[in-house]
Amino acid sequence: MSFQSPMPNQQFLWEVFQRVDKDRSGYISADELQQALSNGTWDSFNPETVRMMIGMFDRENRGSVSFHDFGALWKYVTDWQNCFRSFDTDNSGNIDKNELKTALSSFGYRLSDNLVGMLLRKYDRYGRGTILFDDFIQCCVTLYTLTSAFRQYDTDQDGVITIHYEQFLQMVFALKI
Ligand code: MG
Ligand code: MG
Ligand code: MG
Repeated sequence: MSFQSPMPNQQFLWEVFQRVDKDRSGYISADELQQALSNGTWDSFNPETVRMMIGMFDRENRGSVSFHDFGALWKYVTDWQNCFRSFDTDNSGNIDKNELKTALSSFGYRLSDNLVGMLLRKYDRYGRGTILFDDFIQCCVTLYTLTSAFRQYDTDQDGVITIHYEQFLQMVFALKI
């Protein structure tokens, strides 16, 4: 399954960029991005997800995103929106446990019911038994980061690693989550 959206034209992107760049600084800050994004409710967009996205596309390392990198950020958000909608099969605007299970297994994760339940509880910020768009991104990106870290040690790919205490700490502290 593919969630790739085409890159929008520059004129359209520039209009969006100017609307999001409220202080007209020429850069989109985390605050500006947070205000521009919606998780489908009146609750504010998860600031951790915003920070993560700024970090991914902030090539000038200034904690904000220039117009030059905005297209890639816009595409990233759009692809996640398409992904989220396609797994929200009951169109409820959120992801329930079964929808999360389907999404994660289609991404290639083989997780027990127990673990999917644990992820749901962890990323269900409002205790509603479901996950919103922003927390879904957070959940998937964190799972990906942790799985990649594990795989670096699991050279024989059998799903088992043996690591020393210090290696474990190195692994955990090196994570960007
Ligand atoms: Mg600005
Ligand atoms: Mg749903
Ligand atoms: Mg192994």
